[in-house]
Amino acid sequence: MSEQRYVLVAHMGHNAPWLQIKTRKEVKDRIAHIKAKKPERERPLRLKLLKIVKEPLPSRLAKAYAAWVKTSAAWVKADATWDKANVAWYKDYAARGKANAAWVKAYAAWVKANDARDKANAAWGKANAAWEKTINSPASVKFHKQVCGCAWTPEQPDILMQLEEQK
Ligand SMILES: [Zn+2]
Repeated sequence: MSEQRYVLVAHMGHNAPWLQIKTRKEVKDRIAHIKAKKPERERPLRLKLLKIVKEPLPSRLAKAYAAWVKTSAAWVKADATWDKANVAWYKDYAARGKANAAWVKAYAAWVKANDARDKANAAWGKANAAWEKTINSPASVKFHKQVCGCAWTPEQPDILMQLEEQK
């Protein structure tokens, strides 16, 4: 999971954080969703502004991005361990009349995995909050101007408002 490849994408979702961390698959799925499901008048703007950003990040943003990727990988790993412990625990739970000791052991492993998962999730949540805060910082707003240049601002984050302004 740590080899999970992320890309930075601008304006994925009309009122989402302007720059988001997504997998290529998520971006592809979103584009397909816009083409199939979104009102036709919104599609050209949505598709024009949704783009993968490859320009080097300003330093604060780069730091928040690295923290996000790192905690996300730990979170995915802890979640997978928890899943495994969960399956093992339920399996032994069913047979616990026969194997109480195994059940106790599986339960202890589950508790441990659950704690690790909570911790990883909290760390990731913190990094994610920092990321969302950082992408609306002045340096990041400047970066948006450089890589996108649309009328988005932190005060007016909904890109669909630009449809109104075009009238
Ligand atoms: Zn923009």
